[in-house]
Amino acid sequence: MEENDVDNRGDINGEHEADDNEELARGPDMRYELTITFEEAVFGCEKEIELLRWETCMHCEGSGAQPGTETPACLGCQGTGKISPEPQSSYASVIICDQCQGAGYDIIVLCEKCRGQRRVRNHHRELVNIPAGVGNGINVRVTGAGDVSARGGTPGNLYVALTVKPHSFFKRQDTDVLYELSISSKQAADGDEAKVPTLDGQTTILKIPAGTESNRLFRLAEMGVPVVHSSDRGDLFVLVKVSEDNS
Ligand SMILES: [Zn+2]
Ligand SMILES: [Zn+2]
Repeated sequence: MEENDVDNRGDINGEHEADDNEELARGPDMRYELTITFEEAVFGCEKEIELLRWETCMHCEGSGAQPGTETPACLGCQGTGKISPEPQSSYASVIICDQCQGAGYDIIVLCEKCRGQRRVRNHHRELVNIPAGVGNGINVRVTGAGDVSARGGTPGNLYVALTVKPHSFFKRQDTDVLYELSISSKQAADGDEAKVPTLDGQTTILKIPAGTESNRLFRLAEMGVPVVHSSDRGDLFVLVKVSEDNS
């Protein structure tokens, strides 16, 4: 699977993949708090973040042993990494050998880089793709970008927890956006065409019918926030406020 495909998926809270076979070896998940602007959330963005994470030690390739030194089979598990306390017991009772921590071998000379830990703490830069339409509280999952566990194996996932800054005049609710437009009492009485800002930084024309009263709500269909991983969009609502002065 390509990294970008995974990045592009984004993840709504709670939709985590569970893989029972990998659960034992998979490293811990990481959480990273990221604040983005209103526009970045609406249209998506790429953000480079820096993580301090556990990675497989490259010096020993994750074995924990100094390269070139012997790694005899563990006597506690006969090299399998697992032990069954009772021979007749069920599959579920198979546990990881605590003498070798599941590796299946003994380390005679510790790796000089990781001192036998098989992993090292590294500063890592990750380019995270934030899909269009995300909002406050959404976690963007980057599969495999988390920590490697002390037993090696597949790294955990990285969850980028988003906080979205409010906009100075657009108010967002899910995929809909509200904009408050002030018009004069003359415009309201006679009708007019008013410019309304759109999310992409442009403007659109709103036709105000003659006799419009204050607090009337106009709906500009599909000019709101995109639905994540969809071509659908919410709406832009314009709440008209008639100002008292006759300018
Ligand atoms: Zn090492
Ligand atoms: Zn063992």
